[in-house]
Amino acid sequence: MQIDDLPIRDELKGKSPYGAPQLDVPVLLNTNENPYPLPEDLVARISERVAEAARNLNRYPDRDAVELRTALAAYLSRSTGHAVSREQVWAANGSNEIIQQLMQTFAGPGRSAFGFSPTYQMHDLISRGTGTTWIEGPRNPDFTIDEAAAATALREQRPDVLFICSPNNPTGTAVDRGTVERLYDAAQAVKPTLVIVDEAYTEFSHRPSLLPLLDGRPLLVVTRTMSKAFGAAGLRLGYLAADPAVVDAVQLVRLPYHLSSVTQATALAALEFTDVLLGYVDRLKGERDRIVTELRAMGLDVTDSDANFVQFGVFADTRAVWQAILDRGVLVRDNGVPGRLRVTAGTPEENDAFLDAVRSVLKES
Ligand code: PMP
Repeated sequence: MQIDDLPIRDELKGKSPYGAPQLDVPVLLNTNENPYPLPEDLVARISERVAEAARNLNRYPDRDAVELRTALAAYLSRSTGHAVSREQVWAANGSNEIIQQLMQTFAGPGRSAFGFSPTYQMHDLISRGTGTTWIEGPRNPDFTIDEAAAATALREQRPDVLFICSPNNPTGTAVDRGTVERLYDAAQAVKPTLVIVDEAYTEFSHRPSLLPLLDGRPLLVVTRTMSKAFGAAGLRLGYLAADPAVVDAVQLVRLPYHLSSVTQATALAALEFTDVLLGYVDRLKGERDRIVTELRAMGLDVTDSDANFVQFGVFADTRAVWQAILDRGVLVRDNGVPGRLRVTAGTPEENDAFLDAVRSVLKES
């Protein structure tokens, strides 16, 4: 029996589950993780807070995650200089769950979502998973958004949800503030449209967060995660900032007690160490810039990156280059973008191993 022999929903037929290969290789630079483990004093603080939570595990967690949302709002306000209140923040198990809750609330059967391809594949998959029609708009050859084409597409396609991923995965491209303002207006001119700005990688960007755009835009949502900048991919903590009415609306679909007390306690401990963790972000930004410079020095075409990863090419046989880098002990990602591969910025040693591998592959070809 195969999946497609089962009476599953039509829109899931022939699809593959999301996921990069998990191979046992010395240097793993394929899933945009932060390479630095949490510092020991944070591990100790997590143990303390989790022990406290464990003493109350006979009770359901705080369904509204009030303490955590307050701490996330404080982090957003401090890091962007734009005041955000707890009522504007919602949290869930990873920003994927945040996006799923938004889609369950604002999209679904008979509705559509629009994104600029290539982009984060889960926008497409969560759309399908919620019965939403997924529509792809193109990008310019340098992977920025073609605003004129986008405005036409929005008029013709009339989506209910518009995704703007900035910095975009897998290209690393950040979107201008003015572009977001104009796309928001273009979408609203057609019909009320939820605009989701996915800022999973914003802490790594050369540019400021788009969060201040929330002012006066009740249908704008900014999604964030602790998986990347906070080095806590295993924690599963994503969040959003939006108009309080949007936060109220997702309550209609969130499962009761979706965020365990252990998750809430761990996230609160990590937020106490914000400054230490963001120190690693500075190191990674430097390494990301070094990867861009060194790959360009090898004569490769490298997309400007505002994320903790770098897209590079152009290769006639992308799969063969991916395999040749893997044969040298380094796992990078083939996202299916023609001619391009993506590498996550790791520790300086991991990045050296990657750069040596690419040099050696280029010499051989
Ligand atoms: N958005 C983007 C653009 C991503 O690349 C990712 C993770 N790869 C996510 C959201 C989801 O992250 P998480 O669920 O770990 O918060």
